[in-house]
Amino acid sequence: MNRTDPPAPRPRSRAPARVGEKAAGEEAGQGAGQQAAAGPPAPPDGAARAEQVFAGIAVSEGIGIGPVFGAAEPPLQTKRRKIQAADAEAERNRLERAIAKSRHQLTKLRGRLAVLPEESQAEIGPLIDAYGQMLGSSRLTQDMRARISNGLVSAETAVFDACEAIAQAILGPEDGPNGEDGNHSKEERASRRRRAEEVREIGRRVRRNLMNQPFRSFTNLPAGAVLICESLRPADAALLDPSRLVGVATDEGGLEGHTAIMLRALGVPAVLGANGLGEAARPGDIAIVDGRGGKVVLNPAPATLAAARRGVTAYARERQRLARLRRLPAETGCGQRVELQANLEIPAELPLIAQAGAQGIGLLRSEFLFMNRDSLPDEAALVETYRGIIEAMAGDPVTIRVLDWSSEKDIEALGAAGLVPDYPDLNPAFGLRGIRLLLRRVDLFELQLTAILRASMSGPVRILLPMVTTVAEVRAAREVLERVVRRLRRRGERLPEPLPALGIMVETPGAALSADALALEADFFAIGTNDLAMYTLAVDRADADLADLYDPLHPAVLRLVQFATEAALRVRKPVSVCGEMAGNPLLTPLLLGLGLRSFSMNATSVPRVKQAVRGVEIDACVRFAHTVMQQSDVQRIHDLIARFDPGAAI
Ligand code: PEP
Ligand code: MG
Repeated sequence: MNRTDPPAPRPRSRAPARVGEKAAGEEAGQGAGQQAAAGPPAPPDGAARAEQVFAGIAVSEGIGIGPVFGAAEPPLQTKRRKIQAADAEAERNRLERAIAKSRHQLTKLRGRLAVLPEESQAEIGPLIDAYGQMLGSSRLTQDMRARISNGLVSAETAVFDACEAIAQAILGPEDGPNGEDGNHSKEERASRRRRAEEVREIGRRVRRNLMNQPFRSFTNLPAGAVLICESLRPADAALLDPSRLVGVATDEGGLEGHTAIMLRALGVPAVLGANGLGEAARPGDIAIVDGRGGKVVLNPAPATLAAARRGVTAYARERQRLARLRRLPAETGCGQRVELQANLEIPAELPLIAQAGAQGIGLLRSEFLFMNRDSLPDEAALVETYRGIIEAMAGDPVTIRVLDWSSEKDIEALGAAGLVPDYPDLNPAFGLRGIRLLLRRVDLFELQLTAILRASMSGPVRILLPMVTTVAEVRAAREVLERVVRRLRRRGERLPEPLPALGIMVETPGAALSADALALEADFFAIGTNDLAMYTLAVDRADADLADLYDPLHPAVLRLVQFATEAALRVRKPVSVCGEMAGNPLLTPLLLGLGLRSFSMNATSVPRVKQAVRGVEIDACVRFAHTVMQQSDVQRIHDLIARFDPGAAI
């Protein structure tokens, strides 16, 4: 990641979307093969395709070269199911929620059309509107409800049957599954089939939402492949096997979205927001993913391929050189020790953390424990996973953040357990996220605290609360923690002495601006610059179209970081940065100059940040930070950072 480089030029308009396969969390269509490749089939043998270059956002460095693999949706399988009369109301409620969610997805899709060329909007807009109408108070939805109440079938069955009945009515008897149409023109038959398919498509969407169906399967991913798809959810990224993939590229996604974070964590070269790529890529294509330059090349010409291969070798050499830093201390030229820890998204990263020489885990994102499963994990499963990670760190500290659910994370097990809300009409980023959810679903909170406390006998642990905005939340969370401690002691459980510290993420402007009060309540701060920038600048961190506005170097964000840091330091509370800024070596002098001495980042960034730490002196960093903090112009801040010269500044 290098925000100070000029961003790669990206066209603002999008390639025409094929409805139903565009947005994250949306299905590509029933019957799509488990391993259907992106785009239309390859040209016949011998018909070589010309080189095509796609500019995108460089989210995870390295260069990957390999054959294209396109992951499509898993086929939707619904079993026919009868229900008891007593369950009809619950089933109708499930249906209403799935319809609302589907409508919300369509509204979002409609919103995205604004950036399409006019003719595409004209083509796709009415179709999405028609989908939306079908899900309003239509014959279709009435029929779905009636089938549950009168036919006593599950919501999935009702949706399937209602859609199929309408599809068959549109097709007419002669164009049904068995008949041939003698009465209508070819065009009329094609139009009927299209309309019937639209009804089925809307049914598939509702059923997928009813079933919280996982988006894709990556089990058939061939070794050495480049994964190309239109969008990738964080839950999908969690399913990827980094040892089989040489690169990932998508049409959608932003620099600091959770998908990007996961890909960096996995150490897979990745480019997101490469507009039009999913449409263009075909099976049999060779792709180059340049995760530093932010571009994807399909079917490279021989010279391009040769240059990319040289890039792969150069990158491997650079990694080797950085690996030699592993045993050297993270210490500035003037002898100031700095703590460099790793963020962990999934246990598969543990070997990377060890290789990187990180001094513990500064942010363990617990979400993976809840992802890609149908039901919630139990206490024993949580303890086992936490314990495994703590033991792997062999005495280095582990900061475990309790579940930070947000709708973007789309965790099926939580939806299935009815623990998280749907946000058809409201902005989910401002909803029941992080600690707010845990304080409302205290069982879920207590479950995690119990597991963390039990696992904390295996090594030093801290507990981190996500998305805090008020002092009251910290107090309430501490009460829950104390209650869990008492319960465990009554159970005769051995607990560490002292108990794990309870800290907070400072990742909302509200938290940052009340940092002085929060510093009196919390045992430590972890500054989450990813969300802090999102909420401060009112830009969705995963929105590729607004990536140029999402800038953690905006003076407003920097001032909040400075304010929160100083508030913690005044009362001698530990403070670290664990957002993506922490892993950018160009920002190390600035963050050190603001007084920060602890950073947690994706493991692969540790060596380069260590190199940056070792190359500076604190006095120079303080002077530099002073200069930066006087600026009001973002571009000027970028220029200053790009030009920072440790030698000259000392
Ligand atoms: C952040 O918001 O900066 C952070 C570290 O948390 P996450 O990226 O998991 O939201
Ligand atoms: Mg966050």
